[in-house]
Amino acid sequence: MPQPEHSASKRRPRHWLIWCGALIALTLAMVSLRQSLDKAHVALLYLLVVLGASSASGRTVGFAVSGGAFLLFNYFFVPPFGTLQVAHPLDLLVLATFLVTSLITAQLLSRANREANDARARAQEIDRLASLGVETLNAVDARDALKAIVSVIQSVLHVEYCEIVPETVAESVDDTGHTEFELLVPLRVREDVVGALRLEDSRGLNLTPARRRLLDALAYYAALGVERARLTEAAEQAEQQRRLESMRNALLMSVSHDLRTPLTSIKGIAREIADGGDPRAAVEIEAAADRLNALIGDMLELSRIQAGAARATPAVETVDDLVGAALQQASGLLKGRDVRIDGTDELLSGRFVFTDTLRILVNLLENAAKYSPPDQPIALGIRRAGPMITLEVMDRGPGVPESERERIFEPFYRLPHTLDDRGGTGLGLSIARGLAAAQGGRVYCGPRDDGGSIFTLELPAADSPADGTNE
Ligand code: ADP
Repeated sequence: MPQPEHSASKRRPRHWLIWCGALIALTLAMVSLRQSLDKAHVALLYLLVVLGASSASGRTVGFAVSGGAFLLFNYFFVPPFGTLQVAHPLDLLVLATFLVTSLITAQLLSRANREANDARARAQEIDRLASLGVETLNAVDARDALKAIVSVIQSVLHVEYCEIVPETVAESVDDTGHTEFELLVPLRVREDVVGALRLEDSRGLNLTPARRRLLDALAYYAALGVERARLTEAAEQAEQQRRLESMRNALLMSVSHDLRTPLTSIKGIAREIADGGDPRAAVEIEAAADRLNALIGDMLELSRIQAGAARATPAVETVDDLVGAALQQASGLLKGRDVRIDGTDELLSGRFVFTDTLRILVNLLENAAKYSPPDQPIALGIRRAGPMITLEVMDRGPGVPESERERIFEPFYRLPHTLDDRGGTGLGLSIARGLAAAQGGRVYCGPRDDGGSIFTLELPAADSPADGTNE
């Protein structure tokens, strides 16, 4: 990994110390052996130190070691010893050759080293850019890709802080905004600015032309990442729009079907009567008109619930009263049906809006009656469960498949086998869920052992901690 310049310069004093020490140690060793050493030995050994210094510590240290070795060679090993004078002209030639050779060696070695380092750094840059390309294109979530790109840029450029700022901020930057510690690079895809890359470093950004080039390449990947995130978001929005559209269509079809059916029968029967048919058929007109009325009433109720319109405040009510009133109100559909109540001896009371909760329970009881064979009993389980009171309406009907257990609470959704049932509006469960939620309860559906379904209504108990009262 290419080292940032500040860390390289921190290492420099250590290098100077090492190579000066090596030069002195070699000189001392050679002085002690001066009798048995020839000038060629001295020159070669000094050259070795120059080689080491230039390859390990660069050109400046290499040149300094060459100069030092030249002076020491002259002072200690060229007669007269202990002076910088040269007695024989041939020694002058040896010294000059040594100096030139060591300087050229230092220069060549350090250049080769620098080139090798540059090549290594470039290979690493290419690696990083390639990995950035992979991050940009392959991350499953485009927003994760952006995070990965930011962290790669931060680590490649060794900056303290890096972020991608949105298009709106970037628009105020026509070109690179730059201070010594902060840099804002516009991210462009084709001609459009899609955001900006903001870099910050309290030690200074220190952007050499090479780092600036790398930054531009990285910024291009960041721009691609931003563009990808933007496209993904647009696609998600389009998909959501499409889903909404198809839901609206389904709703419209269902509503128009449910409104038209009773209207068609009203019209048909009215024509029959007008053509001299049985005037008693007017009863059917009344029934169809009632259905229409109920449907319109339910639609209004649901839209009021969904709009969050103010409702009555929950009050403390007994569950016994609620169950008694519900059985009474659903008695038409429950006629002749065995309804088993499975409750506790404890007198349970909850905090709920009586009329709204009655409507929920009646709907659940009527559904149990409508969707299960008439000879099968319906059970009503009543119990206390922690801070809630649960009322379970259990039938032996066909049950609701797991995949449909949430959908049946959507407006107008009916299970395929009940499509032809005109007894209800298809809004009962959506209204029940809305009413229950408005008073801190909930309604959900589950399977019953040995067949059938259980519709559970949960209501806050009157003395539950959430309720805050102690009655
Ligand atoms: P409706 O009963 O008017 O059709 P609901 O909203 O009350 O409307 O119920 C929605 C659908 O849920 C029903 O059409 C039916 O398909 C299904 N459903 C409701 N209760 C039961 C039940 N006890 N057993 C089986 N299916 C049920």
